[in-house]
Amino acid sequence: MANAYIDTRGRMPRSVPFTQAVVRGLADGGGLFVPERIPRLPLDEICGLAKFPYWQRAAAIYRKFEVDLPGERIDELMQAAYGENFDTEDICPIASFDDGIHVLELWHGPTSAFKDMALQCLPLFFSASAVKMRDEGEIDHTFLILVATSGDTGKAALEGFARKEGVRIAVLYPDGGVSDIQHKQMATQTGGNVMVWGVRGNFDDCQASVKQAFNDKEFAQRLMDEHKVALSSANSINWGRLLPQVVYYVSSYAELAAAGKLAAGDPLDVCVPTGNFGNILAAWYAKQMGTPIERLLCASNENRVLADFINTGTYDISDRPFVLTPSPSMDILVSSNLERQLFELTGRDSSAIAGWMDDLSSHRKFRIDPATFAKLRADFASDSVDSATCLRTIKQVHEERGYLLDPHTAVAWEVAQRLRGENPVLIAGTAHWAKFANNVYRALQGIDPGAPLPEDAARLTGCQLNRRIAEAAQASPIPLGLAELDDKPLRFTSVIDPGKTSVEASTLNFLSENHA
Ligand SMILES: *Cc1c(COP(=O)(O)O)cnc(C)c1O
Repeated sequence: MANAYIDTRGRMPRSVPFTQAVVRGLADGGGLFVPERIPRLPLDEICGLAKFPYWQRAAAIYRKFEVDLPGERIDELMQAAYGENFDTEDICPIASFDDGIHVLELWHGPTSAFKDMALQCLPLFFSASAVKMRDEGEIDHTFLILVATSGDTGKAALEGFARKEGVRIAVLYPDGGVSDIQHKQMATQTGGNVMVWGVRGNFDDCQASVKQAFNDKEFAQRLMDEHKVALSSANSINWGRLLPQVVYYVSSYAELAAAGKLAAGDPLDVCVPTGNFGNILAAWYAKQMGTPIERLLCASNENRVLADFINTGTYDISDRPFVLTPSPSMDILVSSNLERQLFELTGRDSSAIAGWMDDLSSHRKFRIDPATFAKLRADFASDSVDSATCLRTIKQVHEERGYLLDPHTAVAWEVAQRLRGENPVLIAGTAHWAKFANNVYRALQGIDPGAPLPEDAARLTGCQLNRRIAEAAQASPIPLGLAELDDKPLRFTSVIDPGKTSVEASTLNFLSENHA
């Protein structure tokens, strides 16, 4: 029996299987899909995963979630997802330090960001799901994936969906709000089925524009009538993005136990640099499945809406400025996946969730009830790190341990130091340092965040700056996909306005010109 997916706001008449939750992305009525059943694994089964290659661990967990595809098909897809597209057989190795700090390096995929962990996997399952629905006569159309990105998701999604059959992808990023490297990674993307737009606004504007397009029924009808295309999402609200992230927390525990870094059954804390709440939510699901994770440490940068929420029970963006920090993938005010977490913590009370989400859209804030707050506090602790401290952390960890952190991972490192107790801590390392050259350079040179780089460094491209940093810091080698960016032609240069009208017009344009 396949697991069924229900929605967080209780507005869908019936549940759907995994394959449909994946191709739809967002549930009808604006809620998010969650699995009806969360499988529980005994400890020996969790620890037993360590003897298998990563793809097999992922397949085992998908089977436990009763994904509605044949087992052999799941194996095939996982082998393709976690193979030579990663630069190490371990897929996500753990760098361990002798004081019980372990950094899970989630950036060994083709775009050097942790988003690859999900986005090398989701597109394969998306295609397989679309094929299955077509074979069963449920659909006779193709898909357009519309993605809002604060930088990393965009490239990882483009790379994942490029050249996949029956699907096109268009990405919106905040123009001027991503690094030189991130921009070039997206603008040089190859493949006939891809499109990239800069948007005059910040990430929340991008995300809001995409959400508005998704909620526009007339637009959906027009896409279907004129292009035989349905919209879908590869944002972290897609359950097909979340499940691959659950895998690496279960897998990491098994690996730490197998390596003797902890005894099987010992508690482990996890510290995650958090933006949209997807990565840390995946750790919570891993815990629900029986992984001995004790506390989830949620690390925020100066956009500390989540830290304040976890410490007060009030989510409030009514009077909160949006701050640009050295960790742009965490510069987020509306943290979409929190909705799933609250759904789970309320014992799946969809009317409470619908109410809070209505409060959030009409009053820009909501307050959870005391019982839910107590449950939140039982699992989570949180703190925020200002930009200067983030950069100091990079310098200090490099000096003391010879390990170079990117600014996102540095935020988590600092929060782990502040909030950790006796337990070993697994820090989610979410990007290779070379994706954020400017701020890593500032950090190592002791330059203030936001201050201009010295002229000799400011002249350099991101790639050139990376080479300079790598030489001076004797840091881990620059991944190939980043090292060669300056030599690739820029394919995409359009900048559009935020909002439904502009995004819909651009989308129709793309579909008219692109018959992939
Ligand atoms: C996306 C991202 C994050 C935040 O992850 P969420 O799942 O959105 O909380 C942190 N660091 C990096 C480098 C990212 O790309």
